[in-house]
Amino acid sequence: MNENGNSLVSVVVPCYNEEAVLETFFERVGAVARAHSGYAFEFVFVDDGSDDGTAGTLDDLAGKDARVKVLTLSRNFGHQIAITAGLDAAAGQYVVVIDADLQDPPELIPDMLERLENGNDIVHMVRHNRRGESLPKRLTARLFYAVMRRCALPELPLDAGDFKAFNRRVLLAVRQYRERVRFIRGIFAGVGFKQTELSYARDPRYAGRSKYPWRKVVRFAVDAVTAYSLLPLRLALVAGVLAWVGLVAYLAATLIRWVAARAAPDLRWTAIVVVFLGLSGLNLIFLGMIGEYLGRVLRELKQRPLYVVRSRRNLDDDPQPP
Ligand code: UDP
Ligand code: MG
Repeated sequence: MNENGNSLVSVVVPCYNEEAVLETFFERVGAVARAHSGYAFEFVFVDDGSDDGTAGTLDDLAGKDARVKVLTLSRNFGHQIAITAGLDAAAGQYVVVIDADLQDPPELIPDMLERLENGNDIVHMVRHNRRGESLPKRLTARLFYAVMRRCALPELPLDAGDFKAFNRRVLLAVRQYRERVRFIRGIFAGVGFKQTELSYARDPRYAGRSKYPWRKVVRFAVDAVTAYSLLPLRLALVAGVLAWVGLVAYLAATLIRWVAARAAPDLRWTAIVVVFLGLSGLNLIFLGMIGEYLGRVLRELKQRPLYVVRSRRNLDDDPQPP
């Protein structure tokens, strides 16, 4: 609460090379804050190792407005970690996580807060369209959510990104989740409490380029699946068993043909090649899968800090990560 007894809302904004949008973003989110004087606001910007003018812009904003808090990470740690750092620094009774690029309209924040005041603990913002996103991106996103919900995490809201609002109770719970392979949507979906969804039209990015090239999108999806599902490992077993069933059937058929025709069938070399390649291929694929999991186990075991902070502005020197 501030001196007027208003609840503090922390708006957490991960930023990676967002110089082109930050000022407009702050104008829009600032207007929302002015129009809703029943709340006090703080804006926690996490500069995720940007190498454009983002740091300078944030510094200016923080100099002009003490509600602007800036957490600068020592290098680019990625979207999910940047959000985590912002959550660790957020002081509010309510928290809103929002992208800097204005794809998530800040004008929806009051609706989200109202849902929280009405007894919900988490409000997920669900996109009912994805304007300005390419067809392949939309299709793979659809596939991703379908697979995740079916195989790993049925509670995962369909088509909800990281744009969400929640109260302090949820914040404190989510802060306890310190796994390194992070899929924040999964953490929220699995944390419990009373969750609700609000649908919205996702705008195209206001300016600048997407910071999610395909390489990062694939990485993100693999992280999400392996963080929540053992299915790929189980598939290895099923496929292995099927391969062996096929092999036995093939041998039996060959034997029967041999007995019936009283002559050795040809195709011997073909058979050898097919079986050899088929099995060794399978072996390699599944070894790779096990490697994926093993790599993640190793990363978790190291217990490294999730991020390293270079500097803070308008923030206490020693915030309260768990
Ligand atoms: N972002 C970040 N670190 C990264 C990549 C992205 O903090 O390594 C931020 C970015 O500045 C933006 C948000 O995460 O505020 C979402 O990124 P982007 O809009 O590029 O992703 P898209 O909407 O294209 O999926
Ligand atoms: Mg975006």
